[in-house]
Amino acid sequence: MALRFDNKVAIVTGAGGGLGRTYAIELAKRGCKVVVNDLGGDRHGSAGSTSMADKVVGEIKAAGGQAVANYNSVEEGDKIVKTAIDAWGRIDIVINNAGILRDTSFVNMKEVDWDLIFKVHVKGAYSVTKAAWPYMRDQKYGRIVVTSSNAAVYGNFGQVNYSAAKHALIGFSNSLALEGAKYNILSNAVIPTAGSRLTQTFMVDALKPEYVTPLVCYMVHDSFKDSGKLFEAGAQWYGTLQYYRGEGKVLQNATVETIHDNWKAVSSMDKPKHVASIAEQSAMLMDMLGSLEAEK
Ligand code: NAD
Repeated sequence: MALRFDNKVAIVTGAGGGLGRTYAIELAKRGCKVVVNDLGGDRHGSAGSTSMADKVVGEIKAAGGQAVANYNSVEEGDKIVKTAIDAWGRIDIVINNAGILRDTSFVNMKEVDWDLIFKVHVKGAYSVTKAAWPYMRDQKYGRIVVTSSNAAVYGNFGQVNYSAAKHALIGFSNSLALEGAKYNILSNAVIPTAGSRLTQTFMVDALKPEYVTPLVCYMVHDSFKDSGKLFEAGAQWYGTLQYYRGEGKVLQNATVETIHDNWKAVSSMDKPKHVASIAEQSAMLMDMLGSLEAEK
């Protein structure tokens, strides 16, 4: 059975090229009405033109799909959401995909390199999602995706700004998932790996953006029920990424020396445990405090 998006309205930010373009085209092919947002700047975030978004809208319409262009920066989320509301009166899906790079070693990083990355990736995702949220709450339906990066998880040389911003988006999505749960608003993060303008890889065929597309489109489908999760896609591999914590050790009245002497146990990951929520983490803490109390 084909997974359709009839009667659904999506915003895909940064959809004038790269990964976003493929999401917009695939969603439209499946009956979704799509706002193709792109300010058409270069990969460092400078300049702008309407041609990138227009081209994708043209492609979608030529294939019989429905799309409108929006040229605002993602920092102006209300204007992007207004484009969806003016055209179709609702907004069901937000794929926060727009992005830029300002790669430089930390020693050479200027404040503008830091600020611009946070403005586009973090403030941008906040701004678009914030404007869409009241509509999603009222209609008790929403599907949100944020775009993270392997640089967020592992760090990457020359990307202190980018990896910090991309990690911020994971926290953003995880908390949105909790606040959205009772309104049937789901929020998840994706880590893509694809040859694009941002990566300029020469492994273009192995890392087609189109290999990421099916996962992201499924993540915003009606039948998708996960929320607060982090998924990965690239080179035709699809999977999930989660945090694990070690078993650790209770060290009563610890000193710096106690930590030093027990470092093997404190830092051990021999018995990793996935903690699914802050409630589960708090419950584990309470259990531990309870057993300490009982020992007294
Ligand atoms: P891309 O440069 O091809 O696409 C990004 C698009 O965002 C561009 O079309 C650009 O014009 C647009 N954009 C930039 N700033 C904008 C703004 N302020 N408002 C609206 N649009 C804006 O890059 P891509 O590789 O397709 O990246 C898409 C997303 O995936 C980015 O968030 C990127 O950080 C993330 N990502 C990509 C990879 C990868 O391997 N390609 C890996 C990890 C994360």
